[in-house]
Amino acid sequence: MTKRDGDTLSRFYGTRLRSAQSWLAAAAKASGDFLIPPVCVACNIQVADHDMLCPQCWREINFIRPPLCDRLGWPMPFDIGGTIISAAAAADPPVYDRARAVARFDGVMRRLIRDLKFHDQHHARRLFGRWMHVAGAELITDAEVIVPVPLARMRLVWRRFNQSAVLAAEVSRLSGIPFRPLALVRNQRTRPQPGLTRAERQRNVHGAFAVPKPSLPEIVGRAVLLVDDVVTTGATAAACARALKSAGARRVDVLALALVVDQSMVPV
Ligand SMILES: [Zn+2]
Repeated sequence: MTKRDGDTLSRFYGTRLRSAQSWLAAAAKASGDFLIPPVCVACNIQVADHDMLCPQCWREINFIRPPLCDRLGWPMPFDIGGTIISAAAAADPPVYDRARAVARFDGVMRRLIRDLKFHDQHHARRLFGRWMHVAGAELITDAEVIVPVPLARMRLVWRRFNQSAVLAAEVSRLSGIPFRPLALVRNQRTRPQPGLTRAERQRNVHGAFAVPKPSLPEIVGRAVLLVDDVVTTGATAAACARALKSAGARRVDVLALALVVDQSMVPV
């Protein structure tokens, strides 16, 4: 057999091998799909691939798109060119530097977050991570460390996982920015925030967070990306940002899956 014949044969079998490998991969995927058919992460109807929404649920998510208030991340009605600061942010600037979120906290998004928080619906985490990676692109560019909003220890024991840490880990995996789940702790028991007024929320979480001494080197002088599931009044994000900044963080940006926009503060 000449060298040329040998090359031809190895090319032939190489092609065969590659096509057999791709056939096996397709077969493995098909059998996996047969065992667990891909379903919409919100309504469970069958869809084309895993970690997806069906078109109907997709349409019912109010994705937040630019132009945005640079500080609060709220969608603004007009692009005036340059950096936009909403009236709400100008009147009462947040402790954190910038916030961004994937969508408004309503409809399908509200249900998805409730499922993530209380029903172990972790199959949606990859989809959420991809969305947050896009919505937080500007913040991720500047971030040096990713820190989740912590749960109180007793609540963590009861719920078994911290949904903000689940989201933060996904953003870290996609961006390659280090994930530091223990850099911020909740050092006192707080009441759940839902049902409280804005002032009550602020009082409830005031002084509740701290950076433990061993974590200081991860925070001092760093640009921190704080990850939460929902930013409602911003009281929790502000209390966390205050703790991080008083520990020496250079800046604190907030990335959330959903955001409550006070429509009365957005000019139309
Ligand atoms: Zn659906």
